[in-house]
Amino acid sequence: MQILDGKALAQQIETEIKSEVGVLSQKGITPGLAVILVGNDPASQSYVNMKAKACKRTGIYSITHEMPENIAQDSLLQTITMLNANPNIDGILVQLPLPKHIDTTAVLEAIAPHKDVDGFHPFNMGRIFANLAGFVPATPMGVLSLLKHYKIEIQGKNVVIVGASNIVGKPLGALFLNENATITLCHIYTQDLIAHTKNADILCVAVGKPNLITKEMVKQGAIVVDIGISKLPSGQIVGDVDFENVAPLCEFITPVPGGVGPMTIASLLQNTLKSAKLRANH
Ligand code: NAP
Repeated sequence: MQILDGKALAQQIETEIKSEVGVLSQKGITPGLAVILVGNDPASQSYVNMKAKACKRTGIYSITHEMPENIAQDSLLQTITMLNANPNIDGILVQLPLPKHIDTTAVLEAIAPHKDVDGFHPFNMGRIFANLAGFVPATPMGVLSLLKHYKIEIQGKNVVIVGASNIVGKPLGALFLNENATITLCHIYTQDLIAHTKNADILCVAVGKPNLITKEMVKQGAIVVDIGISKLPSGQIVGDVDFENVAPLCEFITPVPGGVGPMTIASLLQNTLKSAKLRANH
């Protein structure tokens, strides 16, 4: 069993980004990321802080727009319009989830597709599904980067993804399909989940339920990517996989924390840098 060390790879990617940001800055272009945070959800605040710190480490300019929980949708949309027009901002990210009174789709669709570094705009989603260049959502992008770094063969493999959200499971499925894998997307209505997971050469899990995946559900020699993040009452951060009992079966497995999480942040920085490079070339 080998650990897929997302933390180490993310640090390596950050080093590369920092050097590229330095080169761009000498040409008078500093990549800029604007993050919008609505409300006081502690998990969202912590993710936004981690993103801001990563920007600082790599020399990317970042600004966080904090808005109260009861913000009117129009005010949020106005902020996005302003950021769309700001020439110093290459990437705009709205931290999800948003409060219930706000239409998330309307907000995501308001972001200019060329600044949509989270890749959630239907324009970029469509491009992924058509296997065209665009912004790829950070978590699926991080998963693929991690597997490729460890030279894990994807073509022809049975890839099973548990969790089919717009931000993780569905785009992850499209990325694997683009790499010529055979994909199965499972969700809450999937009958006989174990029949699918047991067949996986590569099993990716993005649900948010600790211990959803037990050793009985995993094939000997499988590659397991745990995307879930949950905080136990004890404060411990865990994924969706019963790591202790599943790991001995695996050829490779990601830890939580230290697996997909750091890769998500590194991928966001890569997307922001990519957007800034496009600005530099205009
Ligand atoms: P989400 O929108 O709640 O989606 C969860 C998905 O899991 C849905 O498709 C849901 O199906 C499905 N599901 C729920 N219970 C299931 C079950 N018992 N069996 C099979 N499928 C089930 O969540 P998300 O935003 O995709 O996030 C998923 C997890 O990944 C969370 O723990 C989140 O914190 C974590 N995450 C981690 C990172 C990272 O950087 N590591 C990034 C993003 C998210 P239905 O839609 O049919 O209910």
